[in-house]
Amino acid sequence: MNTEEMFRKSGAILEGHFLLTSGRHSPVYWEKFRVMQYPEYAQQLCEMIANHFRKQSIQLVAGPTTAGIILAFEVARQMGIRAIYAEKAGEKTFTFRRGAAINPGDRVLVVDDVLTTGGSIKEVISAIKERNGIAAGVGVLVERSEQTIDFSAPLFACHHAVAVSYSPDKCPLCDAKIPLVKPGGG
Ligand SMILES: [Zn+2]
Repeated sequence: MNTEEMFRKSGAILEGHFLLTSGRHSPVYWEKFRVMQYPEYAQQLCEMIANHFRKQSIQLVAGPTTAGIILAFEVARQMGIRAIYAEKAGEKTFTFRRGAAINPGDRVLVVDDVLTTGGSIKEVISAIKERNGIAAGVGVLVERSEQTIDFSAPLFACHHAVAVSYSPDKCPLCDAKIPLVKPGGG
């Protein structure tokens, strides 16, 4: 099964007319967490990330809450190394709590579910650098950014999705009078 089939079968790719957090309208919405409901898919996707970085002398895997916890755990399990979890420390910043240790010079692989703007990943990377660790790579399930994002570390995505969005005043879905849905949350 290819990656897109895994996301489709788990119901992670919704089609319709969606209001994104950016305010733009999109014909596709990624209910990204749905794929994590299926351990067999999560395992296969994490294996792709683990295999990609296996020879990069990674010492530990770090993921931001919430999906990043599951991903970091599974990628680390497959690589036979340790996983730590970055928790929100403010509106946009992340920190490591609960005794999560990064030793100076540790090569850390950062994992997350969907890469859109790269905001959380960048915050996790700065939290790693604050502890004198090295961000040695970034692994995500889905990359759907509209432009290339520079993390100063190699990026691997299990799946590349085309990000289509419209500004509300030029939206063909609005023109077609398709009801606008605000996804996510409860
Ligand atoms: Zn619209």
